[in-house]
Amino acid sequence: MAKAKLTSKGQVTIPKEIRDYLRISENSTLKFEIDDMENESRSVILTKEVVKEKCPVCKGDGSIQNGTFACFVCAETGEVDVGTPILLYIYQLPLRKYEVAISTIQHKKRSDGQIYFLQIPEIEINSDKYPKELLDHTHDYLYMRLIKEYAPKSINNSSLFMLPADIVLEEIIHKLKTDDAKKTVTRWFRP
Ligand SMILES: [Zn+2]
Repeated sequence: MAKAKLTSKGQVTIPKEIRDYLRISENSTLKFEIDDMENESRSVILTKEVVKEKCPVCKGDGSIQNGTFACFVCAETGEVDVGTPILLYIYQLPLRKYEVAISTIQHKKRSDGQIYFLQIPEIEINSDKYPKELLDHTHDYLYMRLIKEYAPKSINNSSLFMLPADIVLEEIIHKLKTDDAKKTVTRWFRP
């Protein structure tokens, strides 16, 4: 059982094991429900609000090109969970079923053998089943979500956002595969 102390402002730090269990991170919305079962001790149920949006890869259809390809990004549901950190989201997808491999690269080795962590993890998608164009589009969607999560401040509030140096931005843009994504991300950082 995890415990946490309430501050004078009514704030509490949710213990890491609970955050991991609920798969919540910064900006997740939590729900508090009073457990109204007849009970001597008052208790509240803490859950994560699941925020879903239409799958940007299949546009909500669950499949691509009139059913030719099952959409693995939303596992054919037509919706993606945007409240879960993207690396966890990827981990939960039944990728084996779709014969798709997604690997994430979080650190690299310098020429002198030293390991360094990437500011924004990189993504690689491999599949013999899906067309390259579709995999590129999917890569950019996932990588853009990673940029949003790993960039220092919220992208939705440009006044808070720490702008990367030109050389860093160039590296980020270089990793994107489609022109649309390159344009969008450039606009995020250089409005
Ligand atoms: Zn989809």
